[in-house]
Amino acid sequence: MIRINENYTKLKASYLFSDIAKRVTAFQEANPEKDVIKLGIGDVTRALPQACIDAFHKAVDDMADEANFHGYGPEQGYAFLREAIAENDFQSRGADIAPDEIFVSDGAKCDTGNIQEIFAGDARIAIPDPVYPVYLDTNVMAGRTGLSKDGRYEGVVYLDCKEENGFIPALPEQPVDLIYLCFPNNPTGTTITKEQLKAWVDYARENRAIILYDAAYEAFVTDENIPRSIYEVEGAKEVAIEFRSFSKTAGFTGTRCAFTVVPKELMAWDEEGSAHSVHALWNRRHCTKFNGVSYPVQKAAAAVYSEEGKAQVKELVTYYLNNAAIIRKEMSALGYQLVGGDNSPYIWINGKTDSWEFFDLLLNKAGVVCTPGAGFGSCGNGFIRISAFNSLENVEKAMARIREALK
Ligand code: PLP
Repeated sequence: MIRINENYTKLKASYLFSDIAKRVTAFQEANPEKDVIKLGIGDVTRALPQACIDAFHKAVDDMADEANFHGYGPEQGYAFLREAIAENDFQSRGADIAPDEIFVSDGAKCDTGNIQEIFAGDARIAIPDPVYPVYLDTNVMAGRTGLSKDGRYEGVVYLDCKEENGFIPALPEQPVDLIYLCFPNNPTGTTITKEQLKAWVDYARENRAIILYDAAYEAFVTDENIPRSIYEVEGAKEVAIEFRSFSKTAGFTGTRCAFTVVPKELMAWDEEGSAHSVHALWNRRHCTKFNGVSYPVQKAAAAVYSEEGKAQVKELVTYYLNNAAIIRKEMSALGYQLVGGDNSPYIWINGKTDSWEFFDLLLNKAGVVCTPGAGFGSCGNGFIRISAFNSLENVEKAMARIREALK
């Protein structure tokens, strides 16, 4: 009799986006004349930068021509992309990352989800609350947690992110082995200073722990004092893996390209206390289970680093940051406490009531969809997340409606 992986039965069904969809459908059926503006799901709305489109087209033409055709590529990604990433995203900012420490993939979701499998089944994990749910659910699937009770899994060290700590978690009081951090943060939109990040790097070095640093939103950091990579912090190469994505940087959510940085100095230990290269382990895993990102997509991603590509990506990010500034200004003027939206596309708003009540209020009175904070963890209750990923016109319309509804 074939048996299932029973850890899957511990997973709490994620009703967040289906519940949102149900409520939106019910509202639209009851109010067919009203259009709904969606500032909920974190998906981009603008087209790919022209430099990426041009490179994409050209690479597709290469595939039509036997002389330039590409079959299987290197699993870790083509050198042209890995070199461009190392030089532009890291070396230019003083972070000494080499091209062969970069693993190109089809998404930061897969990488942040898959990375845990190279570590021990009984590794102690620390996960922020609220959080991008992938980190938690993949550890539940792997059996690193007990059952869920009152909204929290047994065996997980939760790192509370609340107004009291400026949504930056304190170091754990008990020893942990794997630490998930995400900055600029989804869902709170907060960023971390170099000093605050250094405290985590020091903790990891002292405790022989590893930090899994999700920097999927780094392109939104415009303040030069805020680190865009954990490797800007001294010593981080010994203790951190960083995840990046072209999804939000360059509108690749539907095109799919991302990368993970695993420095060669990063070590983890076996039961006997012998050190093993995490780079070698991830390389083994990646080559066994992944066959590389398509050539045209990698060419499109590499175009992000051309002169035109850089300018176009900057324009794209500035566009969404301008939306975020409008949302910040309008919600603050209405008297709400909020964070995020200045170096991030997300604004985290204290709704002063239950998350879902505030969600319903915005939907029913303003026809605007946000995301209830409770869906990201118990510390998210009372908050909503508003996303800046929409057209300027829709953001302005949504804010005018909210102003009218809440005045
Ligand atoms: N990490 C965070 C924090 C995210 O919010 C998202 C997507 O919303 C991802 C990773 C996934 O990125 P990708 O599209 O590269 O899979």
